[in-house]
Amino acid sequence: MELGMFCPKCKAEMQFVDINGIMVGRCTQCLGIWFHGDGHKKLSRLKGSEIIDIGEAELGREFDPAENVPCPECGEVMDRVADPGQRHIHYEACGAGHGVFFDAGEYRDFRQKTLGDLFKGIFARS
Ligand SMILES: [Zn+2]
Ligand SMILES: [Zn+2]
Repeated sequence: MELGMFCPKCKAEMQFVDINGIMVGRCTQCLGIWFHGDGHKKLSRLKGSEIIDIGEAELGREFDPAENVPCPECGEVMDRVADPGQRHIHYEACGAGHGVFFDAGEYRDFRQKTLGDLFKGIFARS
């Protein structure tokens, strides 16, 4: 993954942080977050990882409806997917598996619910 990538939504520069070996890019303007590969899943198991998502959900919603969002790594238009466990959360995912993009506030939501839903999921499936 190259540094100096630009936000797929608002084209501002992204800042990269390495959290326990997981590269995360955060847009300096809309505060959306790019997770390389399946970094969002790995990171969601890490205690306190929601602190990287500093943007207000209101800001995220402003940018959320953007269409034809290109993958910042290969430039192909990404798929808009609903999280299987939390259908109100939508994020963009590169079809080639380069990563996923969350709007500001979405990752916080994703992560909290992921932990909470672990238990619910166990009961729902039994
Ligand atoms: Zn942005
Ligand atoms: Zn890609």
